[in-house]
Amino acid sequence: MVSKVNGIVIKEFDAGENGKRVIVLTREHGKMSLFIRGAKTSKKGMQAVQLFSCCEFTIFEGRGFYSVTNVYVIESFYGIRNDFKCLTYASFILEVTERVSFEELDGDRVFELLFRTLSVLAGGKSKPRLVSAVFILRLLKEYGFMGGVSCCPSCGAEIEEGFYTVWADGIYCAKCASEGAKKLDRGAVRALRHITESSMKKIFAFDVSDVVLEELWKLAMAYRKEYLGEKYNTLGYIESMNF
Ligand SMILES: [Zn+2]
Repeated sequence: MVSKVNGIVIKEFDAGENGKRVIVLTREHGKMSLFIRGAKTSKKGMQAVQLFSCCEFTIFEGRGFYSVTNVYVIESFYGIRNDFKCLTYASFILEVTERVSFEELDGDRVFELLFRTLSVLAGGKSKPRLVSAVFILRLLKEYGFMGGVSCCPSCGAEIEEGFYTVWADGIYCAKCASEGAKKLDRGAVRALRHITESSMKKIFAFDVSDVVLEELWKLAMAYRKEYLGEKYNTLGYIESMNF
């Protein structure tokens, strides 16, 4: 059976002499594994299928796997490769996406989030660390791992400064915060509200000070460790390079 899917390449492997297998996050079916015969020699534009690229794949399903018969590159996000720091953070984002996405799951929201995130990174005008924190926090929200930011889940008070623990169901006020909860200053609470509540179109339309950025990064990493797992190849690199 032949069909078309829109997908972003999140992982790639060599397969055979000239072939390639790619893991793709598709809008239509979540994560898919696609085989590209003659990926390195074909004249049909198959070489353009690389990490980060968003393509329309024409696929053929046979004997339990999917082969790509034609490809149209929608966006290569080539700008990501122009800056090493940007490339490292973008690779981390792909690793997280690969870890949390599933097959045969409607991938529409996460696909849109990833597409917008890579677009902003490729544009080269935003801080890659902030873009990555926004991606992870919104991803956690989309998967239901992060509670509300507006009101304290215990007493209902409006949150200005907040306190969080990774197992809590939202951001708590000072009175209701449990022992050991970590503090988020007003700027970080405002940014978190924007990241989790605004439309996908607007999530990157803000900037923060370096201090707030570090609060958001620590928050994103605490939740990532709890819900999205440890041992990311690129994360160790990010922390050791300190960028
Ligand atoms: Zn409270």
